[in-house]
Amino acid sequence: MSGAVGRFDRLYRRILALATRTVVEPVLGAGYLSLADERERWWEQNPAERDQWRAEALDSILRYAVATVPFHRSRTPRLADFPLVDKQSFIAEPAAHLSDEHRKLPAVEKHTGGSTGDPWNYPLDRRAWAESYATQIYRFRQHGVDYGDRRVLLGFPASLGLQGMGWSKRLRLLAERTDVSLSGLRVDPAASLRRAEQAVDRRARMWYGYASTIATMASAVLDAGRTLPGPELIVTMAEPLWPSWRSDIVDAFGSEVVEEYGCNDGGIMSHRCHAGNFHLADHQSLVEVVDGADAPCPPGVDGAIVITNFHARHMPFIRYRVGDIGALGPQRCPCGNPGRTLARVTGRSGDLVRLPDGTELVPATFFNPFNLAVGVRRWQLVQPDPGSLLVRIEPRNGWGEHDRSLIVDWIREQTGHQLAVGITDSEPFELTGGGKHKVIVRHF
Ligand SMILES: [Zn+2]
Repeated sequence: MSGAVGRFDRLYRRILALATRTVVEPVLGAGYLSLADERERWWEQNPAERDQWRAEALDSILRYAVATVPFHRSRTPRLADFPLVDKQSFIAEPAAHLSDEHRKLPAVEKHTGGSTGDPWNYPLDRRAWAESYATQIYRFRQHGVDYGDRRVLLGFPASLGLQGMGWSKRLRLLAERTDVSLSGLRVDPAASLRRAEQAVDRRARMWYGYASTIATMASAVLDAGRTLPGPELIVTMAEPLWPSWRSDIVDAFGSEVVEEYGCNDGGIMSHRCHAGNFHLADHQSLVEVVDGADAPCPPGVDGAIVITNFHARHMPFIRYRVGDIGALGPQRCPCGNPGRTLARVTGRSGDLVRLPDGTELVPATFFNPFNLAVGVRRWQLVQPDPGSLLVRIEPRNGWGEHDRSLIVDWIREQTGHQLAVGITDSEPFELTGGGKHKVIVRHF
């Protein structure tokens, strides 16, 4: 592996940390690095103290919303009395969701929805942004990568790359030694192999990017009969990291691989542990999972992920459907790390298979055979019409009749034999406008 920490790196990190705390944080009005230390220590409290802290944080944001946000005015400050909201609620009446004090509360401009064709620009409280970034900083640190260690970003769409970036973010990325020169949409195997070689040449300690981009780089390396010395840590984001992607990345680069699940609105910044659960930042938000009738789902049952952000006051996010489907995990994870968890996040909530009898099936329904099939590198389910389902797969070594019947039999059974199931290994995959891999595509 490359990227050993030399004397220069350690010195640079110290200077950057000092400059960040004394100059950057006061200028930005967001003490993310100081907060990273504070939040790492937050976990040293016992569980009862942490729960008490959360109860007070929740009470505080609910009372604040009732007092200052037109949309919430005159509610009682109890969570159950707040309706569930989503992106459309904010788009429909943006002013009603802003705090009366929003002009006094600094915010960063966020963009989302490029991938769903439903763009939305909104202000995220700087304090809430800092909370999310601080969480990321201390989580990376727990994996051995410190603030100021060299990183390479991979797979961000151009709209989130340098072109669309303000000067302060560019300067921050430069100072943090974050290299965005290899970002961009996923392309063909030859370009992916080249990108992998270039990323290795950067001698970074960490790569951070889209799961599909890094998986494609890995498969291009393996298909060329090679392996490359990757960074110490690879963190994937934005898309589920399928088991076959993970094993390709480990085989190709020999790095530690961590899957991140975060939300644009700053409500969730979580990393997946070796026991398979996403560890939430309990100081950041309250996370609920609800069913179609907005009732809570028990752990392990898929539903809509809903967040209440403890820190966003400029425009509070209270009982906000983030648009993803997932399931709560155990309160006490077998890995031994503290805090609440999500067992899985299985995709955008729009992505459901619909049966002729009206039943809708979430992506997790279909995971099992793809976790077992050795010959599948990636897959996608397409429902072109109400009566049929097509499985697109990208094969790799081992693909054959055994995998084929494993997949088709499972899907026939799960769909109650209501759909004609076909399978193909020769159709291109459909991506979202933002270049993300889609698990389910429904054409009606
Ligand atoms: Zn765990």
